Amino acid sequence: MNALSLNNIEVIYDHVFLAIKGVSVEVPDGGMVALLGANGAGKSTTLKAISGLLKAERGLVTRGDVKYRDQDLAHLPPQQRVKLGIAQVLEGRRVFEHLTSDENLIAASAVHGSRADMARNMERVYGYFPRLYERRTAMSGYLSGGEQQMLAIARALMTQPKLLMLDEPSLGLAPVIVEEIFSIIRRINQEEKMSILLVEQNAIAALDVVSHGYLIENGRVVMHDAAESLKKNPDIQEFYLGGHEGKDFNNIKHYRRRKRWLA
Ligand code: ATP
Repeated sequence: MNALSLNNIEVIYDHVFLAIKGVSVEVPDGGMVALLGANGAGKSTTLKAISGLLKAERGLVTRGDVKYRDQDLAHLPPQQRVKLGIAQVLEGRRVFEHLTSDENLIAASAVHGSRADMARNMERVYGYFPRLYERRTAMSGYLSGGEQQMLAIARALMTQPKLLMLDEPSLGLAPVIVEEIFSIIRRINQEEKMSILLVEQNAIAALDVVSHGYLIENGRVVMHDAAESLKKNPDIQEFYLGGHEGKDFNNIKHYRRRKRWLA
């Protein structure tokens, strides 16, 4: 069974702006999949269609369906989706900066359950992030960018999700920290059989940890394949792995001409 299947969804903001134009994505149970693409391609919008956060931004899924383990999510509010086991780590390391890591984790955990349950859950989560554990009583505003990203992920883990969605966890972080965070995400996927949907502009790092990737451009999936095949694809290599995307207009024009997937 798939943990998640998006079938031909369309998303409109403010009743007029068509941001997603028929996207289909599947995340197998226990699988790890990446959504890749440049700024504004529609990656975050796709995640919000799944977590239910679109409504707050005047966005609406106007076509297609979003299914979590065969259950249609269309009419469920975000909190119900969290209860089902869906968690989204938003872009930009949102943590309560004036609270410590401990307090951030407590604030993120479900209100039901005993103190002992919460302590066990915190221990499990800190097990993935020893660095955070060491600084558990420091105010999180003073943590490094990488540590704040870890805390944002740790907060999502406190809800004990079965499907974890991460929006650009590598943003603004040094390669060595990105590697550390991605290897932790991989561990969580393997040890807990948690299904993971990873949104990234950093295709190099993402394709090293996922098994399958979808490339989104202008609200459409323009390519999807096994990560190993995507890494070998000449277009992906040149424009997403080469690190010169968007830097040279000639390259962009060349890219537009060569883009076989739109042909
Ligand atoms: P980024 O990496 O920059 O976050 P993205 O691939 O996640 O890019 P989205 O944020 O999903 O892209 O944006 C897709 C399109 O929808 C963009 O054209 C964006 O301007 C538009 N958009 C996003 N959020 C809103 C909103 N709340 N209201 C109106 N338009 C929006």
